[in-house]
Amino acid sequence: MVDDLYQEIILDHSKRPRNCHSMEGANRKAEGFNPLCGDKLKLYLKMEDGIVRDASFEGSGCAISTASASLMTESLKGKTKEEAIKLLDKFHDLLTSDSPAAKDLGKLVVFCGVRDYPARVKCATLAWHTLRSALDGVDAPVTTE
Ligand code: ZN
Repeated sequence: MVDDLYQEIILDHSKRPRNCHSMEGANRKAEGFNPLCGDKLKLYLKMEDGIVRDASFEGSGCAISTASASLMTESLKGKTKEEAIKLLDKFHDLLTSDSPAAKDLGKLVVFCGVRDYPARVKCATLAWHTLRSALDGVDAPVTTE
């Protein structure tokens, strides 16, 4: 069952999140908050020549939001700002549209099942909203509301 495999990956990343630490020398930071669920996160990026060299996060949130931040930071490294924004848009499509272009999302497709749980969509997209403001260099805290 592909759904079971997806769930396993989400569980794995929520229990052992990757890149879950603060970062010294980060030159982009943003904070996100999802009041619906209480998920909070801080995102750190190190950008060089328009490329994401490193990405990490800290936070407290539910399994979905943690797994999403973990998988997102993994998939960002080495991407240009433009590529990161494309990925963000595709991920958003995956969760909100009926005919998502799930191509090129790699492991991020594991979140496709979240589409059936509208209340959880904000958990899954929180890290990505925060990413957008980090890339834009906006310092104000982000909320999903
Ligand atoms: Zn949540």
